[in-house]
Amino acid sequence: MARTAVLGRLTWQSATLEGVRRETATARTLTLAVRGWQGHKPGQHVDVRLTAAGGYTAQRAYSIASAPTADTLELTVEATPGGEVSPFLAQMAEPGVALEVRGPLGGWFVWSPTEQQPVQLIGGGSGVVPLMSMLRTHRAVRHPSTMWLLYSARFPEAVLFSHELAAAGDPADGADRATLVYSRRSPAGDARQPHRIDARDVAAHVLAPEDAPRCYVCGPTPFVEAVIALLLLAGHDPELIRAERFGAGRT
Ligand SMILES: Cc1cc2nc3c(=O)[nH]c(=O)nc-3n(C[C@H](O)[C@H](O)[C@H](O)COP(=O)(O)OP(=O)(O)OC[C@H]3O[C@@H](n4cnc5c(N)ncnc54)[C@H](O)[C@@H]3O)c2cc1C
Repeated sequence: MARTAVLGRLTWQSATLEGVRRETATARTLTLAVRGWQGHKPGQHVDVRLTAAGGYTAQRAYSIASAPTADTLELTVEATPGGEVSPFLAQMAEPGVALEVRGPLGGWFVWSPTEQQPVQLIGGGSGVVPLMSMLRTHRAVRHPSTMWLLYSARFPEAVLFSHELAAAGDPADGADRATLVYSRRSPAGDARQPHRIDARDVAAHVLAPEDAPRCYVCGPTPFVEAVIALLLLAGHDPELIRAERFGAGRT
């Protein structure tokens, strides 16, 4: 790999917030313009650095939500109550704001359209963001392999990318499918009582171990640990499980 490409990823680059799109009451998608952006792989993230007037800086990691095939670079940020950085990005920052990004980062939690094996995505809360990049890429290139998403949100109003996910195809019709489950409150009429993902959900909504799917699990650390344990219990090969932990968190 060219040394300049590596240096480019590790160097802070100036970025401008070009646009914002509300996803939920507490989350927004941010479109960034980064001069000289080299592109990314689905699943990668960037570090974002903010600098206050007095020179104080704060940086946090945010996954890339957009597909590399898209024209824009998008992040989707959920406001953490009392957080230092996320409430600014998710609720306050206006187009034109200058910030810095470093990346793309992460070489393990990535999916490439050159891979042919079935894929199971499992996300909790904002952990769906890097999985969305994978799903969008899968759709954009009309990938023939199966890609399923199981997404746990706290309640219906907390669902990110709801319109796009609702458009997920019938598996008989295409190769991707999105299933939403709720941990705190389900929509009216939903037969499933709200609860955290359990073994029954895995049996019902996750590709079978016999299909040998590559599994990508992302969300708050307790969510990721619980889901990995369920996948192993169901007989999935640990070698095929990749995980990204966002830290503490609410589910
Ligand atoms: C690789 C990676 C990718 C990430 N991608 C995304 C993404 O795409 N979208 C996104 O919204 N976030 C993402 N995160 C989380 C993000 O980096 C920040 O941790 C999050 O936005 C909180 O930052 P903050 O400055 O607002 O809160 P902080 O000031 O860091 O934390 C404030 C308080 O909230 C607690 N806390 C920290 N994180 C959480 C949480 N998730 N839920 C509840 N409480 C918390 C802390 O323990 C602390 O007590 C990612 C994290 C990693 C490691």
